[in-house]
Amino acid sequence: MLSKDVAAPQGPLSDKLGRPLRDLRISLTDHCNFRCVYCMPKAVFGTRYHFVGHDGLLSFAEIERLVRLFAGLGVSKLRLTGGEPLLRPRIEELIASLAGIEGIEDIALTTNGSLLTQAKATALRAAGLGRVTVSLDSLRDATFQAMNDVGFPVAKVLAAIDHAHRAGLPVKLNMVVRRGLNDEDVVPMAEHFRGTGHVLRFIEYMDVGNMNGWQPEDVVPSREIIERIASRWPLEPVEPLRYGEVAKRYRYQDGAGEIGLISSVSQPFCGSCTRARLSPEGRLYTCLFGTAGTDLREPLRAGDGDEAILDLLQRVWGLREDRYSELRNILRARAGKEKVEMFHIGG
Ligand code: SAM
Ligand code: SF4
Ligand code: SF4
Repeated sequence: MLSKDVAAPQGPLSDKLGRPLRDLRISLTDHCNFRCVYCMPKAVFGTRYHFVGHDGLLSFAEIERLVRLFAGLGVSKLRLTGGEPLLRPRIEELIASLAGIEGIEDIALTTNGSLLTQAKATALRAAGLGRVTVSLDSLRDATFQAMNDVGFPVAKVLAAIDHAHRAGLPVKLNMVVRRGLNDEDVVPMAEHFRGTGHVLRFIEYMDVGNMNGWQPEDVVPSREIIERIASRWPLEPVEPLRYGEVAKRYRYQDGAGEIGLISSVSQPFCGSCTRARLSPEGRLYTCLFGTAGTDLREPLRAGDGDEAILDLLQRVWGLREDRYSELRNILRARAGKEKVEMFHIGG
């Protein structure tokens, strides 16, 4: 039985499980200047790994055209991600063009913060970026550097968060919690971001891709995270504002703001998943744990008209019945197809 928190909105297009298409996550590149152990472990993604080459990437014009078509099918929210999306030069030009598309109400960016200077944050805001999510897994350099595996210091990510805030961008923080690696950092992170207005979101470590060596016992269930934080600062649940909200939200009873929990492993939310994902080379995935995408670049470059591409998008979404997280145990037990990697289609 699929769970739905809030009634599904009506839209022009629904999948086989009645879920509308609302969000598009666009991975702008599969390159990254970090090698987070849970995402792109260095041993696998070293100098010999083949990333998408420049000509293989969707151009900004191709992305804009696709977004226009997706908007016509009900997409109103975009998230730019990667890899590290700020590695893509002149990303603000893309944002400005996407912000002008009718029906697009919200453009967000997920970044590791390493390239988020004050000038960049200001330019992104001016171009029409609505908000930013910065990933940060620990406040301790030793732990954070062991997790990003390129020796990137915490202070520079904290500076990036300030830059975004000063540029007027609402900020959320993503912290992936992996048992034995950074679960001791849950309460210090909560303490640091309480009262700042930035929403810290704890993400259960997921079995995305095929390379991160995920084991169920590495996951710290959200329930445990809530208990640890609530034993210091009492929390109360916040009702979801809209259908398909990924994070379960809690507020501090003392008024110090909110936290979010993304519990893809312990409390899957496939029942209201309205997200499509576009890979850097233009493949459309209908699930974060997808094994095969649909090539949109080929028809774009072959000169297909809008009608033909719209028809393809409608067919793909209409046939969608993904709910990997709800079926994780069954699907993991099945040998076979490899899943797309997280850095390839973004979070
Ligand atoms: N490079 C950018 C960043 O790190 O923010 C954007 C892309 S990254 C793939 C998007 C989000 O996915 C990040 O917040 C990251 O922490 C999260 N992520 C990556 N691998 C994960 C995993 N195995 N489980 C849970 N979250 C993961
Ligand atoms: Fe790069 Fe983000 Fe993956 Fe870390 S989580 S390796 S920053 S894409
Ligand atoms: Fe959506 Fe797939 Fe995640 Fe379920 S597992 S919430 S269908 S992306």
